[in-house]
Amino acid sequence: MDAFRHSHSLGQNFLTDRNLLSAIVADAGVAPTDTVIEVGAGQGALTRPLAETGARVIAFEIDKRLEDYLRPLEAQFPNLTVVFADFMKCDLAEFGADKFKAVANLPYYITTPVLFGFLEQSGCESVTVMVQKEVAERIVAPAGGKDYGVLSVSAQLVGKPRITRTVGRQMFTPPPNVDSAVVHIDVEQNRVDEQVAKVVRAAFAMRRKTLVNCLSSAGYDKTRINAAVASLGLDASVRGEKLTPDQFIRLSGLL
Ligand code: SAM
Repeated sequence: MDAFRHSHSLGQNFLTDRNLLSAIVADAGVAPTDTVIEVGAGQGALTRPLAETGARVIAFEIDKRLEDYLRPLEAQFPNLTVVFADFMKCDLAEFGADKFKAVANLPYYITTPVLFGFLEQSGCESVTVMVQKEVAERIVAPAGGKDYGVLSVSAQLVGKPRITRTVGRQMFTPPPNVDSAVVHIDVEQNRVDEQVAKVVRAAFAMRRKTLVNCLSSAGYDKTRINAAVASLGLDASVRGEKLTPDQFIRLSGLL
């Protein structure tokens, strides 16, 4: 099993440090009564401490070569189910996970869709994920800065994301080209509906243009946009990146 050939395209950068793995489980605040969804179980480094909490763990892994590592773990923990499938094609409703905590060291190439996917699920109680450090910085970025964008607004509309730890590339086997960080979000309320998502996407579609121009390019009526911007007390030349998540909600309501 030592000769496992890591697939770069599947984002196979595995963790081995037990202290770090336990710390990630602690960041997630997993209790024995929880259901945990893990995306990308790999060789089970994180799956094991998750299963050891006693929580019901459903771990997804796309690469069948990892069966040699994960099937024995599944045999050892009756509370663990390993699903060999592409998580992007799975419907969580089929696994009876009405409420769940998402915990994962995510494969970098699907970080954003997986994260958005979790945040959109009504049963998602919290998300604790290892992502590239720069993605983590974008998720927690405050309004107005260069890192603030669609990812920041979307995550901050559901809760208060925070970086619980940064993790150097040397902690992974093989080491990736960038450092990583663990982001934790307790889902307090889900305020992202289709309309809000559309306004946020439009607002950041052209970063050098004003909010008014971005929204009008996206098809919103210019008179309405101007009235909405004015009633929020914002200048007509304001750019999307200046609006807080709350202001996006109000803007969307006004449009
Ligand atoms: N959890 C392990 C760890 O921390 O050592 C592995 C994490 S590794 C960064 C990501 C894992 O996700 C890899 O094992 C990879 O095969 C798996 N993976 C990649 N794409 C996937 C997908 N679409 N669905 C499920 N698993 C996937």
